[in-house]
Amino acid sequence: MEEMKELAQLLFPNINKTPEFYEKLYPQRNIKEGARVTRFAPSPTGFLHLGNLFTCTVAYKTAKDTDGIFYVRVEDTDQKRRIDGAVETMLEGLKAYGITADEGVMIDGSQHGDYGPYIQSHRVEIYQAYAKRLVEEGLAYPCFCSAEALEEIKAGQETEDIKGYWGKYAKCRNLSLNEIKENLNSGKTWTLRLKSPGDTTKKCFFQDMIKGKIEMPENVTDIVLLKTDGIPTYHFAHVIDDHLMRTTHVIRGDEWISSVPIHLQLFYVLGFKPVKYAHVAPLMKEENGNKRKLSKRKDPELAVTYYKQEGFPAASVNEYIMTIMNSNFEDWRRANKDADIDLFPFSFKKMSVSGALFDTVKLTDVSKNIISKMRADEVFELSYEWAKEFSPRLAQLYTDYSEYTKKVLNIDRHNAKPRKDIAKWSDIPEYISYMYDETFEKCYNLTGNATAALAVQVIQRYIEIADTQDDKDTWFDKIRQICAPCGCTANVKEFKQNPDAFKGHVGDVSTIIRVALTGRTNTPDLHAIMSLLGQQRVMERLRNAMEYYTKSIEF
Ligand code: GLU
Repeated sequence: MEEMKELAQLLFPNINKTPEFYEKLYPQRNIKEGARVTRFAPSPTGFLHLGNLFTCTVAYKTAKDTDGIFYVRVEDTDQKRRIDGAVETMLEGLKAYGITADEGVMIDGSQHGDYGPYIQSHRVEIYQAYAKRLVEEGLAYPCFCSAEALEEIKAGQETEDIKGYWGKYAKCRNLSLNEIKENLNSGKTWTLRLKSPGDTTKKCFFQDMIKGKIEMPENVTDIVLLKTDGIPTYHFAHVIDDHLMRTTHVIRGDEWISSVPIHLQLFYVLGFKPVKYAHVAPLMKEENGNKRKLSKRKDPELAVTYYKQEGFPAASVNEYIMTIMNSNFEDWRRANKDADIDLFPFSFKKMSVSGALFDTVKLTDVSKNIISKMRADEVFELSYEWAKEFSPRLAQLYTDYSEYTKKVLNIDRHNAKPRKDIAKWSDIPEYISYMYDETFEKCYNLTGNATAALAVQVIQRYIEIADTQDDKDTWFDKIRQICAPCGCTANVKEFKQNPDAFKGHVGDVSTIIRVALTGRTNTPDLHAIMSLLGQQRVMERLRNAMEYYTKSIEF
């Protein structure tokens, strides 16, 4: 025992604080019974992907639903891979979807809360205090094996079921204090390894919140706790941080599930109560009938910035995420059509064990629905913000014709069956283009029974009577009124019973007017469109169409 104390002092001469000191510094949280403390622990190495947003939504929601705490901790122990500004970008990304931390690292880089520092590279002393204690207790030891020596061990383990530094392969596990001193004196670098108490015949069991009961072989490898520079590995830092920050639920990607036996062993040797784990399966995509993980390389929709660029409102993305996150969400939504999404009672049990299927077509449907229920001024504000960044041309129209544009966006809103034309803001330029002279594109293609010859007759008569100030009934009466003189019937039924007797019906007459005014065969309410276009513009477009069809029949 004395020898171990001596060794600990030799390895960590500058570490004076003890685990007891830190236990006192970071007491149990004063939160109500059942409140969950969760976290997002990004490494500052990359971009925010949909999987992060998905997992964070789980962590955030479970904290909020229980009046708990959601905090952000930066895991920057791998300094070589760090990218400047990565954390800020990730936190900005989360904020856009309503996820902000109660505690930890904030968007401006500041830290907030009593359990910090929340950046692992600022916590090295803490990890070393616990490392020192493990050495004192004979539960950790320095390893002097070089990279080549470790490679050699690996090469000799091909037929071994258990790989790694364990059993007879753990060369430094039983070095005497004198041997260690010699190595240290000769200036050899060392890592600190766990002296694993694991047993190859024993199993480790745990209850994953999402995946249920899991059984795996106990960990027997003497994993590295501190690297040669004294910086901890993910395993060691995770256990100490989540213990000291009093995390109750660790919600993370399921690539970590195979490490749980190591983590539970570390909780055990450190004398900590283990956290509860929820391992989230990666998002999947269906391709040619097969399910595969969303991939950074192949799927642009994996980057959260994709949704911003395309102009999917945050509310749509959040709604869709909840749809694939909990299998009962859609039922809940049907029963609670207009309820705030935050009221949905999220449950780990309703999550997919093998990976939620992500599908942009479904997202598009969800989004159309959400946008169809927004007020026009909300659509205007949100799409204006988007346009300023991604569509200068649309932004210019919005700036030049703000009030007019709000009215355009209001067409067919607030009725029993609002139209679902817009799934994302990038759909808007095309959707509203005919409402502005600057972007209107003539296109005189007709459908149904409408022909150029009929068009000439219809437009000729309609020009005489069209008035954009008419109310809807008068407007429609006028369209019916020109049917008979043009050889059409105002009665579609009548047409169907005797199609040879007519050139077309009221629908064809409307199509001709619609095409002349908008260049499309399908638009929202034509009466509303005409009222907004105004008399002058309507007349001009009717005349242009007339000219076109006249020429085309002469030709
Ligand atoms: N820094 C780890 C990662 O980015 C976090 C895993 C965890 O949440 O514990 O994968």
